[in-house]
Amino acid sequence: MNASGQIDDLPPLREVIARHELAAKKSFGQNFLFDLNLTSRIARAAGSLDDHDVLEIGPGPGGLTRALLAAGARHVTAIERDPRCLPALDEITARYPGKLSVVEGDALTENYRGRLKAPVRIVANLPYNVATPLLTGWLCDEPWPPFYASMTLMFQREVAERIVAVPGTKAYGRLSVLAQWRCQCAILFDISPSAFTPPPKVTSSVVQFAPRTDPLPCNRAKLERLTAAAFGQRRKMLRASLKSLGGAALLEQAGIDGERRAETLTIAEFVALANLLP
Ligand code: SAM
Repeated sequence: MNASGQIDDLPPLREVIARHELAAKKSFGQNFLFDLNLTSRIARAAGSLDDHDVLEIGPGPGGLTRALLAAGARHVTAIERDPRCLPALDEITARYPGKLSVVEGDALTENYRGRLKAPVRIVANLPYNVATPLLTGWLCDEPWPPFYASMTLMFQREVAERIVAVPGTKAYGRLSVLAQWRCQCAILFDISPSAFTPPPKVTSSVVQFAPRTDPLPCNRAKLERLTAAAFGQRRKMLRASLKSLGGAALLEQAGIDGERRAETLTIAEFVALANLLP
């Protein structure tokens, strides 16, 4: 931060947006953060950056990108789908020579791995319309441990709650099991709708993911098959919802009461059941 409280000497984001006529588009899930103190808080929450490459999805006009670079990130690779944002991002590239690579493309299909040098942190204010598929893709990375050392991601609060939910709660489901099987996950802080332009309808949360070095041994595809069946009919007893996978016999083999419901099972119990699937 410089003497006037700014994180860099680039123009304020509102000016950048106006000059490049970057009216937010709903189809791209665009809700921009203009407060660079807030984006700096997210960058700080990601941990040390000077010894990491950073992958950012959806830089938009570059609020978080600037914070990552101001925090000293070794290198930032930013994938942006909206070509209208590229001229604004070029100004940041010019301010930080050799530190920022912007790739125009869809993060769901773009092959960015080869651009990243380990260790890597993923840091992003994710577009809400593709946030869950992006996260699932990173959690399903093979082989494990994955290509990233940590993820610091912003989601709608409801998605964040599903990620960290514990057994016995309404939010506990497939995403909780997959995320917590492979990572330690924690909600760091919330961001109110008023911080964004345009303001979304709901509160957002920043979630930190630390990949487990030794997740309980399990085949990911089997675990996913199991949780899809169990939570697909979450109100039913497991002996009914898991019928097609072996039902009562499978549950008995794992020593799990068939009258229980999916939301009561711990991750270790899901893993034990998945390991019995053919
Ligand atoms: N990082 C900026 C900020 O915090 O102000 C913008 C965040 S905005 C919630 C999400 C950004 O992701 C938008 O810039 C949008 O154009 C971009 N985006 C949407 N879908 C995308 C995709 N499939 N791949 C890459 N970027 C995408």
